[in-house]
Amino acid sequence: MSAKIIDGRHISEQLIEEMAQEVKERMAQGYKQPGLAVVLVGDDPASAIYVRNKIRSAEKAGMLSIVKRLDESCSQQALDDVVSELNERDDVHGILVQLPLPKHLSEERIINLIKPSKDVDGFHPMNAGLLSLGQATLIPCTPLGCLELLKREMGDISGKHAVVIGRSNIVGKPMARLLLLANCTVTVVHSKSVDPAKLCQQADILVAAVGVPELVTRDWVKSGAVVIDVGINAIEQEGKRKLVGDVNFNDVVDKCQAITPVPGGVGPMTIACLIKNTLIAATLSDN
Ligand code: NAP
Repeated sequence: MSAKIIDGRHISEQLIEEMAQEVKERMAQGYKQPGLAVVLVGDDPASAIYVRNKIRSAEKAGMLSIVKRLDESCSQQALDDVVSELNERDDVHGILVQLPLPKHLSEERIINLIKPSKDVDGFHPMNAGLLSLGQATLIPCTPLGCLELLKREMGDISGKHAVVIGRSNIVGKPMARLLLLANCTVTVVHSKSVDPAKLCQQADILVAAVGVPELVTRDWVKSGAVVIDVGINAIEQEGKRKLVGDVNFNDVVDKCQAITPVPGGVGPMTIACLIKNTLIAATLSDN
């Protein structure tokens, strides 16, 4: 079997173009330009790249973009003040604080401080609760991007058995909730699960969000499964730095119906969904 390689980069570009059109139309109707503010604390190189890509995509979609940079050693109060100010600005519809934060700052406190209506990451407890109830408007970007890929690849996923590896608040849990809302039968595998390979072998849809390089090998994958690899792991191979997923791509590729590559699969979709959430937040704010 030759698997389809799902081109997340191309799909995300299409989505951003569609949103740019919508932004234009909204502005022509007299609405404000949608605005996304990204807060970056410190100078972690990976975080700086993520922020740059998010800002570029917001600009491609014709949105106002604002970056607030704070020093690595900034106080919790200084970070709180920046977020509180953004909460009040009516040209800012979405706020994202790039994670992880330096150890002395509380991620939980900052997630709780962002106004739920501007929480374009979908991490605020109110948005997490609404997702559990099936009433969410702002849904975490990575699982939302994975669902979009699955629907494009498979159409109706109702009744499929989906196995999600990982139960983090930002990927695994919201992914499992979205799949359940799409009427999948959902199994969540985590570090205490007994015989994860056997559980994964049952999956029509396998989503790996673990953070362990190439954990998923051929014997974990059912023939004809659709595999979504969320993992982004930097490893050293033959003296070179390389990004790999949580799935051993070469080992499983000819066993799947379709699979996302790393890089170029889920990563760009996460950004497209951030832009989508900003547009939703702007639309709901009605200004
Ligand atoms: P996380 O918070 O560290 O959670 C990892 C999850 O995997 C935990 O639930 C953990 O179980 C489980 N786990 C760890 N080892 C396991 C094993 N051997 N077998 C089964 N389950 C295991 O990570 P995360 O934030 O969800 O991120 C996961 C991966 O996705 C990372 O590589 C991250 O870089 C990547 N990521 C990518 C994007 C993107 O845009 N593509 C976005 C976010 C994250 P316990 O709960 O029992 O500890």
